[in-house]
Amino acid sequence: TAGQLDEVDALVMPGGESTTMSHLMRTNELFAPIADRLAAGMPVFGTCAGMIMCASEVLDGRPDQRSFGALDLTVRRNGYGRQLASFEVDLDVKGLDSPFHAVFIRAPLAERVGPDVDVLAEHDGAPVLVRHGACTVASFHPELTPDARLHRLFVESLG
Ligand code: GLN
Repeated sequence: TAGQLDEVDALVMPGGESTTMSHLMRTNELFAPIADRLAAGMPVFGTCAGMIMCASEVLDGRPDQRSFGALDLTVRRNGYGRQLASFEVDLDVKGLDSPFHAVFIRAPLAERVGPDVDVLAEHDGAPVLVRHGACTVASFHPELTPDARLHRLFVESLG
């Protein structure tokens, strides 16, 4: 709830379905409070649908779908294809000393990143893990493998 949000220092915005997340956040009057906190610099780690929610521009979204614009990023929903085109791949990630096994499920494709956005990992020439300020987003699901390094980096960044 918006009241509980006051007690939160940082958010993990998980995967799921961004059209539904957008709809539920708006009908539960959570969209504007979260948008305000993000604009005020609350750290966020958005994964998959969470990446879509954080993006500044969403292609192939529902017309009524909204996103927070927490970083300068254009994503295309389901840009890698449908459920059957889901895949797993080992990624080289800036700041990690060995590859990260990444699970992509109906993942968003980052089609454009702003000039100030730091690309931490790429796959097939497209950014898949990017950061700008307190906002980090991944087009894959780091919570679906036992490797907690990306979540640990996020928690450590909170100081
Ligand atoms: N395709 C989903 C969406 O549009 C995201 C899928 C996921 O989070 N695994 O929100």
